Amino acid sequence: MITLTGTLDLGRIPDEQFDPHFHLRVAVVFYDQVLGSVILKPVSRALPLAFSIPFSPAQFGFRRLPAALSVVIGADAAAIDLLATDTLRHEVSLAGLLHAPMEGLAIPVGTLRPGIAQYGRWLVGSGCFPLAGGTACTPPAGGDLDAEIAALDSEDARRNDYTIESEDDNPARFVGAALCADEERALDVMEINPDATDDRGARQVRVAGDCSGRPWHVAPSLVRLRAEINLRWPDRDKRSDGTIGDQSHCERPSDHNPNERGSVNAFDVDKDGIAPMEVVRAALLHPSTNYVIFNKTIWSRAYGFRARQYTGANPHTAHLHVSILSTEAAEQDSRGWRIWPLAAASSVDRLCIDVGRTYELMLTLDGKQFEVALTVLRAH
Ligand SMILES: [Zn+2]
Repeated sequence: MITLTGTLDLGRIPDEQFDPHFHLRVAVVFYDQVLGSVILKPVSRALPLAFSIPFSPAQFGFRRLPAALSVVIGADAAAIDLLATDTLRHEVSLAGLLHAPMEGLAIPVGTLRPGIAQYGRWLVGSGCFPLAGGTACTPPAGGDLDAEIAALDSEDARRNDYTIESEDDNPARFVGAALCADEERALDVMEINPDATDDRGARQVRVAGDCSGRPWHVAPSLVRLRAEINLRWPDRDKRSDGTIGDQSHCERPSDHNPNERGSVNAFDVDKDGIAPMEVVRAALLHPSTNYVIFNKTIWSRAYGFRARQYTGANPHTAHLHVSILSTEAAEQDSRGWRIWPLAAASSVDRLCIDVGRTYELMLTLDGKQFEVALTVLRAH
């Protein structure tokens, strides 16, 4: 193996623009082929991060000079997509290596220092970035969110939070064919007709299950999701909401039952009074999410979050179900779900880009005003 070694230095990024949750990918590229890559997770802008990328010399014939070997760094897109995105490219000097033995060869590339603008563009795909001016899209004020989270965590709120009886314990059994593009588009505009097997009105007959007699709590990441939904849609219908499993849940495995850490890792949210597909899309972008079920459709991490038919008895037409991964990291993840109200403002200093959403903007170009709808197709 040949190993390419170097250091990533984010010292040029101002503290307030550095995002410790943002991951980058560094790749060795020979012409347009990725020979190897690693993901970097810098937790501090002040600490340079060393990396080494092994790759096979068989893929690479640099003895036939001039060879175009580069190291490329960008947002953590899949390696195959990286080259189609905005990256920082650094030509690797092969001088002096021509007669070195290839096996075990280490090629140092020195320090890579992305600039502020480049780093800012990478952040676009992952969420928020700063602009000059006022506010287009802001997270709820910390105090509001904390108060909402405290209210949800209270004994009173939890006492009547049993979820429906007809939930499926193992949704993987009910994953059907992938939805075609037309069916996916229709999810946005579909009239939803809850049928008799749905959970509407089931709240009145909900009773506590044995397993909820043990100490339990809703995973903090899901409490935050719920708090964001409540702040975004304060008048929403909550009759089909629920977290802790009822008796029928207790008799089988379910994310609605407390796990070995006492954590309830599923949340049902009533679809009335919210924009359910916005919640679905936000959930699919969150690192904690395992799967989402809504309107006879399941988006599962196991299937790359592609929309697939869901054939379980409960069609999930009155509520949508969010399950997170059963790991402590997913349960405790405090990152936002980016379900934030859009404020009416004429200028912006933070713009949120959510994949799948359409933004209506007024643009002024050469003194003319244009009304523009901007749809975000994908993140790289
Ligand atoms: Zn559920």
